[in-house]
Amino acid sequence: FLKGKTALITGSTSGIGLAYAKALAAEGASVMINGFGDAEEIEAERKALEDLSGARAVYSDADMSDPAAIEAMVERCTDELGAPDIAIANAGIQHVSPIEEFPVEKWDQMLAINLSSPWHLTRLVVGAMKEKGWGRIIYTASAHSIVASPFKSAYNATKFGLGGIAKTVALEAARDGVTVNCISPGYVWTPLIEKQIPDTMKARGMTREQVIEEVLLAALPTKKFVMPEEVASFALYLCRDEASQITGANLSMDGGWTAQ
Ligand code: NAD
Repeated sequence: FLKGKTALITGSTSGIGLAYAKALAAEGASVMINGFGDAEEIEAERKALEDLSGARAVYSDADMSDPAAIEAMVERCTDELGAPDIAIANAGIQHVSPIEEFPVEKWDQMLAINLSSPWHLTRLVVGAMKEKGWGRIIYTASAHSIVASPFKSAYNATKFGLGGIAKTVALEAARDGVTVNCISPGYVWTPLIEKQIPDTMKARGMTREQVIEEVLLAALPTKKFVMPEEVASFALYLCRDEASQITGANLSMDGGWTAQ
């Protein structure tokens, strides 16, 4: 149902972002993927997306901490695939540390990637969407946009902030067929989660098994990680015309975490 549409997904060489790209491509969308990683693996993913969609897939290595690079990425997408009809701000990083030891440069970097880059992406894509009278902007926020966990002061700040941008722009674009929403997953089994296990072990003095059982799965009443494909199918639903009244929402997919 997305044939002829263009989707731009930041942070889509891995994890949830790659799952979004696959889900959108499977519905026929042209996609621009973005992020870092092994060049050969990314090229293989890009090609697989073209096979899936029968449309074009393009890769941008733009660094989401650099506003000029974000601007160049959107321009390139517009030139090569068309102005994005669907923009998913998904790139995000994590750092786990008590605030008194939190590296200041990590705070700045996390703000730039997790919060400023969705703002830049939005300001650069929303105009063309309004002109066309159709658009979908989605932020991957987190259960940490609704509740906090210790040692994640920067991450929580950025994810709470995304809800503010989504609500504001949803109102600004409400009459133009453009919706803006956050999807807020609980713990999704991706490299981002795996990478924070060692730091959490250190911060809490726990073993790997204890971190998985007592910190990560402890937060999810279902006692299961959310899967990237489940988050992607939620985004796909938001792209349907039936979802045109869902806007300015922060939508949880967290196994009941924030119900507690
Ligand atoms: P991931 O580490 O698997 O993927 C992150 C992606 O972002 C990768 O493609 C990476 O290359 C890219 N990226 C990182 N820094 C970048 C930069 N400066 N410029 C461009 N791309 C950059 O992580 P994930 O778990 O798939 O996370 C994706 C999003 O989902 C993040 O915003 C994260 O906060 C959010 N999220 C994750 C979970 C979870 O449990 N995994 C839960 C809730 C929300």
